[in-house]
Amino acid sequence: MLASLINIAGLAILVIISIASYRYRATDEGGTIAAFLMGAIVGLTAGWLWVIYMVLFFAVASLATKFRYNYKSKLHAAEEKGGARGAKNVIANGGLATLFAFLYWLVKEPAIAVLFVASIASSLSDTLATEIGLLSKKKPHEILNPSKEAEPGKSGGITLLGIAAEVVGSVFFSLLAFAMNLVELKYVAIIAVAGILGANIDSLLGATLQGYYVCSVCNQRTEKSFHCSLQAKRVKGLAWIGNNAVNILSSCTAVIAALALQLAL
Ligand SMILES: [Zn+2]
Repeated sequence: MLASLINIAGLAILVIISIASYRYRATDEGGTIAAFLMGAIVGLTAGWLWVIYMVLFFAVASLATKFRYNYKSKLHAAEEKGGARGAKNVIANGGLATLFAFLYWLVKEPAIAVLFVASIASSLSDTLATEIGLLSKKKPHEILNPSKEAEPGKSGGITLLGIAAEVVGSVFFSLLAFAMNLVELKYVAIIAVAGILGANIDSLLGATLQGYYVCSVCNQRTEKSFHCSLQAKRVKGLAWIGNNAVNILSSCTAVIAALALQLAL
């Protein structure tokens, strides 16, 4: 009885959060539905505390994207649609965590909770590195060749400010997971390291495998294969590796690192 009341209340609050997310354009229609479904799956299986953790991640990531959005637009580096995340972006950032929450409910293995938190810490660190790094007064440098300057907003570019943001974000969200009783204290360092690693793998993949395009209309260099309503010309990387694929691959790397560190320590 109490359990079903908690579930009804949880779903009701999730509906309110989803509507707010749509109204403040943190997500578009598809992104809102995807986020609601993921929240409902996690809440009804692993529990609502896990959803609160995901919502906090999503809130911090969205605020970072919205923060000084107009300035980032001028750099041609802002996320499109006012930073509203679509379904693919939401799933790329939270899909793996949703899967681990579901698996945790099935087998009740604490190691899986560590993987859930590590995948979120990685997505968060990566978002903060990008969105806060864009605000750096200094030009970014290429991750593979730090003596060389990179274009602001181009994946594979790193700034000291971005690195500081990713470290603070990963450490804070690891501690938060402990404070919320999702993981034991002994896993906090593992999760923080895995999250930071994931964010750097993201930059590394951005510098190597990710597809890059030049728009034949406005001549802008972009990560988008479509620009100004036309297919853009690919100048670098692989066609099938876009921003979302990079996000998923780097979260997977963070999870594998968290698993390996748990087994090794
Ligand atoms: Zn264009």
